[in-house]
Amino acid sequence: MKNISQSPITALSGVGNTRAQSYARMGIHTVYDLVMHFPRAYENRGDVRLLSDTAEGMNSSIILTVSTECKKSLIRGRGRRMTLLKFRAFDDSGSCEITYFNQEYLSSTFHIGSTFRFYGKVEKKGNRYFMSSPEYEAYTESVPLPPLCPVYPLTAGVSNKMITSHIAQVLDGAVNSIPDHLPEDVRSQNRLCSLSYALTQIHRPESFEALGRAKRRLAFDEFFRFALGLGTVGRTVRHEGAPVCRISDSEMQKFYSLLPYHLTGAQERAIREIRSDMARSTSMNRILVGDVGCGKTVCAAAAIFVAVRAGRQAALMAPTGILANQHAADLIPMFEALGIRGALLTGATPAAQKRKIYEALLSSDPSKRLDFVVGTQALLSEGVGFAAPGLIITDEQHRFGVNQRAKLSEKNHDSHLLVMSATPIPRSLALVLYGDLDISRIDEMPPGRQRVDTFVVDESYRPRLEAFIRKNVDAGGQVYVVCPAVEEKTQLELEREEDMAQGLIPMTANFDFYDSVVRDEEKKSIPEMRAAVQFAGELSERLDGYRVAFVHGKMKNSEKDAVMRDFIDGKIQVLVSTTVIEVGVNVPNACLMIVENAERFGLSQLHQLRGRVGRGHRKSYCVLVSALPPSAKKSTAYARLDAMKNTYDGYKIAEQDLALRGPGDFLAPASSGAGGIRQSGGFDLKMAEGWQDSSLMESAFAAAKDILHKDADLSAHPELREIVYRNFEDMGNIMN
Ligand code: ADP
Ligand code: MG
Repeated sequence: MKNISQSPITALSGVGNTRAQSYARMGIHTVYDLVMHFPRAYENRGDVRLLSDTAEGMNSSIILTVSTECKKSLIRGRGRRMTLLKFRAFDDSGSCEITYFNQEYLSSTFHIGSTFRFYGKVEKKGNRYFMSSPEYEAYTESVPLPPLCPVYPLTAGVSNKMITSHIAQVLDGAVNSIPDHLPEDVRSQNRLCSLSYALTQIHRPESFEALGRAKRRLAFDEFFRFALGLGTVGRTVRHEGAPVCRISDSEMQKFYSLLPYHLTGAQERAIREIRSDMARSTSMNRILVGDVGCGKTVCAAAAIFVAVRAGRQAALMAPTGILANQHAADLIPMFEALGIRGALLTGATPAAQKRKIYEALLSSDPSKRLDFVVGTQALLSEGVGFAAPGLIITDEQHRFGVNQRAKLSEKNHDSHLLVMSATPIPRSLALVLYGDLDISRIDEMPPGRQRVDTFVVDESYRPRLEAFIRKNVDAGGQVYVVCPAVEEKTQLELEREEDMAQGLIPMTANFDFYDSVVRDEEKKSIPEMRAAVQFAGELSERLDGYRVAFVHGKMKNSEKDAVMRDFIDGKIQVLVSTTVIEVGVNVPNACLMIVENAERFGLSQLHQLRGRVGRGHRKSYCVLVSALPPSAKKSTAYARLDAMKNTYDGYKIAEQDLALRGPGDFLAPASSGAGGIRQSGGFDLKMAEGWQDSSLMESAFAAAKDILHKDADLSAHPELREIVYRNFEDMGNIMN
């Protein structure tokens, strides 16, 4: 069989131009794309029930024997004439009336005495059962039927039946000819099945075990390619010819003397590493990581000081206006005392002011020149350039797309680069994600930090919770209430919820926001997600007399900033928000963090949110309100929340997140908020995202590292190279 995997999809019989266009909408152009289009879930048809055991409203699988002739009749429905086919079929528990519409030809299929596996919803009226147009497969005891039937992501013009049959053409034909790019020794060392077996079983699993083997192999592939991609195309490079920024210790002392506190040992070490990098002509490429509140900003400020004192300029880019404002408010006045000039540049900066800043940044006269600029993505705009670029810093770097970061360093080709991140990344992931960066780790908190007491509560605590809000506000404190943003739910999540409601088995294990332990009836009783807008309204009514405000991601930046400023100034007592406040905001007077629908958040996200309080002298609390029913106490979803009560170390939390949810939160951010790294670029991590056994990821990363060690640009592995470069295409264009 010749390799048709790169053939256009029209090579399959039954796929013409129209269908090809439908497929193209899903990004499926070639036969290979089609076999890589995995089911999103499976119908569990192997779970055969008796009629009497079926659950109302859910799809069930039942084996029934036909007991009557098919009766045909004509009816009028919605103004059209329809033929109706009706017969009865039974199992040990009862008998069911089955109906099909406009499918007269089925009368030759359903003979008296023949047995079928039906799949669909069973309706009960008294002790009578009904099914309407169920799926059916002829059943013989000696020939087992497949237990799992794939459910594919679809688009208009492509039905599940159609995809199944088109994929069947490939599986029955060319699947063995699809080249397996995984080197044979990697495959055998990791006990992975062949690609053709994996593809066959992912689409037509013969058992749960076979499906498990297939998923494991395909997840490994994704991790492996991802690591190869980051290790080759996605690598940021060090330049020679960066400005040498070397200043004396006594000069540095002038900076330290501005600080109202002593640096921690970890901060001193980080600053030493930064200074030593900047003193060389090879550009710095360093990431500063450390838990929320460990004091990264002052290290960034030290780096700015070094650049400026060496006659260079610095830029600090933050992901939100709120954060940029906060940095500017901290840094600009502080540096002013040393005669160092800084400015703030955001989308909200008036045009005239912007022009002035552009000019001052480019001024050839050092006495008129701006020494540093703090800003948002606005720093990436055309007009921004530097007369003497020296240092580029990005804060909370994971919030930026790879391309935004690349753009900033591109503008300033020979600058030193410092990135900061408060998202603790599990070690195994950090090695791959930051493989090209030197890491400075701040693993020590400034002295006197309090532990934020954490509680997990359910809906029944609502009245007490509101009393607690009042109590804290009456004592002069401020309160955050964070809700997941409903409007940000993705198509995928919606489908997932629908699938779960239908009793389907999801492909990935990641989506445990109420996992399978929670019984179906209970799922229905879970309160609607707290839509932030509505919730803010209700809460402000109930908290009559208190100053409640609302901020969410869809607001204009200027509006967001205005509300945040009022909160920072204490004019607002209770701030209801979506996760926009997550990143970096510092309001020392805030002492209570309430997270609604906490089960929707990754642990690392929750940890970030918790880090917003406990920053001042007030005793602080974090309350995680979970919509999980009390009966879900044994579920992983609940265990995750419970872990927050006793764990305060961001790295431990990240490791747990990885173990419980897979690396998805770190690789591609969940829609419910931030916390992920938008670094996966063009990578589709379908299987890998929710893969919970991190040893597979580690093996894949190790295998990738091994290959890159011997063959840095994959020139000895042309097929692998092609796949990896194709995946990283978008990134590649930007990085080079
Ligand atoms: P993050 O690492 O999350 O960005 P910040 O830089 O915002 O943390 O610092 C958090 C708070 O800790 C700030 O109010 C800062 O002034 C304070 N801080 C930083 N370093 C120290 C220190 N060594 N001693 C006392 N307070 C410090
Ligand atoms: Mg910060």
